[in-house]
Amino acid sequence: MSASQESQLRPRVPIVSTLAACLLAASALSCAHSAAPTAADSPFDADRAWHHLETVVGFGVRSCESEGLAKTREYLVNELTSYGLTPIVESFREETPIGEKEFANVYVDIGSPDAPLVILCTHIDTKIFDWEFVGANDSGSGTATLLELARCLAERPSTSSVTYRVLFLDGEESIREQWIDPDNRYGSRYHARMLKESGEVSRTKACILLDLVGDKDLKLTTEAYSDSRLQKIFFDAAKEIGLGEYVDGPTREILDDHLSFMAVNIPSLDLIDYEYGPDNAYWHDPRDTIENVSKESLDVIGRIVLAALPTLEKSL
Ligand SMILES: [Zn+2]
Repeated sequence: MSASQESQLRPRVPIVSTLAACLLAASALSCAHSAAPTAADSPFDADRAWHHLETVVGFGVRSCESEGLAKTREYLVNELTSYGLTPIVESFREETPIGEKEFANVYVDIGSPDAPLVILCTHIDTKIFDWEFVGANDSGSGTATLLELARCLAERPSTSSVTYRVLFLDGEESIREQWIDPDNRYGSRYHARMLKESGEVSRTKACILLDLVGDKDLKLTTEAYSDSRLQKIFFDAAKEIGLGEYVDGPTREILDDHLSFMAVNIPSLDLIDYEYGPDNAYWHDPRDTIENVSKESLDVIGRIVLAALPTLEKSL
């Protein structure tokens, strides 16, 4: 992703909703008291997420057509399959500034084929540099968190009125150093186009993107292109479960995969912390390593997303 100019601060009006907190627990059944749920109440397993992150970062560079990226896809497919899911590898070729390249997204639908669709996505590729960039945060963190979220969604009682599409995107990073359209967002642009061509776009009600969510010093940016209604649902859910300190970060406009879905009129939200290290110094930098991300941050993001989904579902 890339940042465009600072935008004006928008006022935020917190609302109180107990629904998200009530439905956070794996059983989603009992809500007899109003105490904020703890990590132990959430089905999100931070140890599993951290293991995914270590594994993916261990594959090394995961740039376009790299061996590390192929291994990442294989790992995702194997893990998703082990959760009882049937992942799809969506391969395509596209022209880039250095010639035609092979890309492949991985996705899986959890729910009924007729239900309204909500996309949960992240990118899995790392940016090309002439040094070894392992991208622990960008986007090992999103990959690891989304994979553990897929397990949580696969294992929860099937009472949801929504189908979740868990989507791992290739080709978010630009091939050239500078982020200049259309040299970026290859995977999300392709997937959005396929949604449109297949007619599925009309049943797709929202897209939630995770990117740069592993910073040790986590504070989610108030991303200004994002759908403000979705942003409020997720930030309010965070406050509801006692994680309000991690949201309401500085307002910024971020160019990221959510723009591809917004382009086909799907309301979208970018959950991102675009302040990685002092003055964002660790972003696209050799310091984007496992030492600068934390299991606790993956836990925070996982719990916020799971807490927000019941409210999101009710709002559709
Ligand atoms: Zn990046």
